[in-house]
Amino acid sequence: MSDQTLNSWEARADANSFYGFTDLPTIKERGTTVLTHGKGAYVYDVHGREFLDANSGLWNMVAGFDHPGLIAAAKAQYDRFPGYHAFFGRMSDQTVMLSEKLVEVSPFARGKVFYTNSGSEANDTMVKMLWFLGGAEGKPQRRKILTRTNGYHGVTAVSASMTGKPYNSVFGLPLDGFIHLSCPHYWRFGKDGETETQFTARMAAELEETILREGADTIAGFFAEPVMGAGGVIPPSAGYFQAVQPILKKYGIPLIADEVITGFGRTGATWGCQTYDFIPDAIISSKNLTAGFFPMGAVILGPELTDRLQAAADAIEEFPHGFTASGHPVGCAIALKAIDVVMNEGLAENVRTLTPLFEEGLKRLSEKKNIGEWRGKGLMGALEAVADKDTKRPFDGSLSVSERIANACTDQGLICRPLGQAVVLCPPFIFTPSDMDKMFDRLEKALDGVFAEVA
Ligand SMILES: *Cc1c(COP(=O)(O)O)cnc(C)c1O
Repeated sequence: MSDQTLNSWEARADANSFYGFTDLPTIKERGTTVLTHGKGAYVYDVHGREFLDANSGLWNMVAGFDHPGLIAAAKAQYDRFPGYHAFFGRMSDQTVMLSEKLVEVSPFARGKVFYTNSGSEANDTMVKMLWFLGGAEGKPQRRKILTRTNGYHGVTAVSASMTGKPYNSVFGLPLDGFIHLSCPHYWRFGKDGETETQFTARMAAELEETILREGADTIAGFFAEPVMGAGGVIPPSAGYFQAVQPILKKYGIPLIADEVITGFGRTGATWGCQTYDFIPDAIISSKNLTAGFFPMGAVILGPELTDRLQAAADAIEEFPHGFTASGHPVGCAIALKAIDVVMNEGLAENVRTLTPLFEEGLKRLSEKKNIGEWRGKGLMGALEAVADKDTKRPFDGSLSVSERIANACTDQGLICRPLGQAVVLCPPFIFTPSDMDKMFDRLEKALDGVFAEVA
């Protein structure tokens, strides 16, 4: 029974909802923010407070919170055919059209698409595909998965094992066979006197040593975000993908680009791999795929993996995998519209137009004495707070500096996200120059207030 006597939204949220990825002391002190609706890049809570959401929801609401075209596409598809599956040789017409579209806009000359309900499930599915291939191709020992420290790939048992974050140890994860390489963040992990080129070479050497140590024929694949997102917006060191891809090719290890955040325009090109000038063997997509209007993920296979998986499936007459809502017609209709809106209605173009303004703002705030680094690509960026700019020494963890900054931002009517000791910004593609000014003004006030308290 739920307690009907509770009279505030905050208390009701607390009473019956179990929070995930939420700082519980902050909730105790400040209460849950209960939202009712959104307009453009702004969201509104039950008390009528307005917030500029500088994180596009959770990186995904790139067309804002009330895009009329997306809402109309969803309504029309609900009227026409509100749900179906993609099993047993049936699928909706929307699913057929979305697969065509995804292959068309992918960097692949040809390919095939498999649908899930989330990014985690898409990564999980890709791992199962690689394990399936290992078995089918007479290499059942080919099961290990390589990812990077600070990489984020999701929360299912497999995708959490791929995620290179210490918090997963509370679940006894990672599972065996998930190997985390170093994080290619030069500013933080470069050694004294090491150039960025030398740093990249060290990352590549570590990859090759790991392959040789583990045995190339025990490794099923290497997964990487073109720009790490939930790790704190970390672009790779210069030349990183050009250095690692030839090594992977040499040992026959597929390179999977996890483009859940970087896909569909976030970094300035359609795909992050295009921004960084490499072609992966498969792409994992979610989040922006439906502009956040429907839960959906997709594995987009390049030509070689398409052929190998097709042969493996043909041999046993079935690929025994799929979710009840894989290729959901409403999700597919929304995704078709979202891709059209982003690519053809000026949103991708707006990312490129706003990027210089965004970088200028980040750069300006990085001059503060307690900001160690600004970083980013396209419309994803971060400011890293430090206690000491010269030594890059972080603040004492007990100060919860980035939580304080995020809370101070909320008080200013700005939603941004604390990540480690960084503040992450990931504005929707519909942002205007005036939203950008507002975001940086509010963020600066919050930073000044918090640094005056802790520094
Ligand atoms: C969010 C994210 C995921 C997981 O997606 P969910 O839909 O939350 O399961 C996977 N990879 C990357 C790069 C992400 O940002």
